[in-house]
Amino acid sequence: MKTSLKTRLWLAIEKKAKEAINFFGVGNTRFSLLLARINSYLKKHFQRNVSLQSVDVHLAEHCNLGCFSCNHFSPLAEEEFADLNITTRDLRRLSELTKGNVGIIYLVGGEPLLHPNIILFMQVARELFPDSDVHIITNGLLLLQQKPEFWEACKKYNIIMTPTKYPGVDWDKIEKRADEFGYKFTYFDFSGTSEKVSRRFALDLTGSQDMKKSYENCCMACCSIGLSDGRLSTCSFVFNMRHFNKYFKQNVPVTSADSIDIYKAKDIQEILDFLGNPIPLCRYCKSIGTEIVGEWRATKRELSEWT
Ligand code: SF4
Ligand code: SF4
Repeated sequence: MKTSLKTRLWLAIEKKAKEAINFFGVGNTRFSLLLARINSYLKKHFQRNVSLQSVDVHLAEHCNLGCFSCNHFSPLAEEEFADLNITTRDLRRLSELTKGNVGIIYLVGGEPLLHPNIILFMQVARELFPDSDVHIITNGLLLLQQKPEFWEACKKYNIIMTPTKYPGVDWDKIEKRADEFGYKFTYFDFSGTSEKVSRRFALDLTGSQDMKKSYENCCMACCSIGLSDGRLSTCSFVFNMRHFNKYFKQNVPVTSADSIDIYKAKDIQEILDFLGNPIPLCRYCKSIGTEIVGEWRATKRELSEWT
């Protein structure tokens, strides 16, 4: 089971583009946002001809950092951890469907390092996808507290830690710590050379947007493909909207039409075709990640951050 040449080529181009952005020191500017949109456009329109480029596996719904307009609604979520058995079952099915040809398995959250058994998830991801990249997307706050077993597992399972560069974290110290174990960080979201800014992920609670337009303009579609309890979705909103609805007592509808059952899908092509199209939930999205609102800021957990 191997990732295909086309998948590797796609990932290599994406990686080089990110490195170039970091080299020129323009991380998190409008230019990087433009490149993110180009990346998303290419995935929406061409991923179905290549293979599944990435899958997000959520290890914790909640987070130890509260960001303005978090696109996973994690500051609104109650404490909730992924079930290892369910994740193993679903990754096994995905591995069968794709013959292991998935570019990147992202272990995400909320904050994935909060999961007490994160090492077991690393092991499962690596064993079921021996030829894929496996990344941990973390805010970094817990990295300096990790025990040697964690770093050893990262080494053993060839895990790439990809922190988002939030302010207030001693990144130099963390990089030195990682170096002791032979690791080199790559920063997520084009932010290797500049600190994180805040973006707005805004909903239209009336659901009156044009779903095709919302999908085409969306920075998450096909770039944050979520796996949850036997289903895949094109973005993280589908499985996380429940946190928004519960916290703000709203009723943004999410139905089975917004995701696809990986056990009922006859092959991976059916899944790729589904992911490359708008979903009913897109009617509720106004501007998804395209509006930079300034320097990173903490959430006040106000409805206006997401509307
Ligand atoms: S660190 Fe990530 S998951 Fe946590 S609140 Fe910020 S954006 Fe959301
Ligand atoms: S529902 Fe559609 S527009 Fe909204 S985040 Fe998901 S893919 Fe993007």
